[in-house]
Amino acid sequence: MKIRYTEAFYSVQGEGKFVGVPSVFLRTFGCNFKCAGFGMPNGELSEEYKNVIATNYTNFEELPLVRTGCDSYASWDPRFKHLATDSELDEVVDRLLELTPTGRWTLDNGQDIHLILTGGEPLLGWQKLYVDLFEHPKMKDLKNVTFETNTTQKLRPEFRDYLATQKRIQFTFSCSPKLSVSGESWDDAIKPQIASSYYELGNSELYFKFVVADEVDVDEVDKAVQEYRNAGIDAPVYIMAVGGCQEEYQRNARGVAVLAMERGWYYSPRLHVDIFGNGWGT
Ligand code: SF4
Repeated sequence: MKIRYTEAFYSVQGEGKFVGVPSVFLRTFGCNFKCAGFGMPNGELSEEYKNVIATNYTNFEELPLVRTGCDSYASWDPRFKHLATDSELDEVVDRLLELTPTGRWTLDNGQDIHLILTGGEPLLGWQKLYVDLFEHPKMKDLKNVTFETNTTQKLRPEFRDYLATQKRIQFTFSCSPKLSVSGESWDDAIKPQIASSYYELGNSELYFKFVVADEVDVDEVDKAVQEYRNAGIDAPVYIMAVGGCQEEYQRNARGVAVLAMERGWYYSPRLHVDIFGNGWGT
């Protein structure tokens, strides 16, 4: 079985608990959501996104950022499937290692490089390949892996057993449940039992990361966090300003920081937006 991915790149982690850590990102293809609603009423497609779809882009570098809808649209929308790469596991491993300065997961001063599995939704069917990926002979010095997940996907039993019993890798679930501004329904998006199944694993950590734009979103974060707490999950909560582009992000960031201070959550920047302007490959 091959892995379909849209991007592999080396950058600094821009969000959440490991902000600033040198990290290799593998953006797998496919998502169970569309999140067309960001910035749009009733989850409609924006004119901006319709224009992107209508344009025949031939590589990722040409793709524009969008202000509405999912900012990773090309990592799941079938209309961009032709831009993705299908690779055997050995090829994926070689590609990931090529990206690091040393060709290994450790830098010369001992600092390890994190592997971030993102998407799309990285916990879809690709779970079947992850044990082979992490146990590949060239991956033996990998110490830290983060799944950037929308927290809706059950773990396959064999993958769950692996996560629960292995000792070498620190796994982190960076859980970004979608609020109603995304256009997805509450029942589809907020799944405390799924989060709980990640939280209960040994050798792993979990934190929540919500994108918020206004007070409505913040009230929903409160409600969602309460549902997760009721399921026994006592994990840190980060909030982050909406804004795929720099101007919008900077406009919102201060207000979100104030909200974090008022509500007792952590503020997460979007460091990659500050540094790189949130282009593809960052
Ligand atoms: S869950 Fe994430 S990747 Fe999937 S459509 Fe929503 S924002 Fe995009």
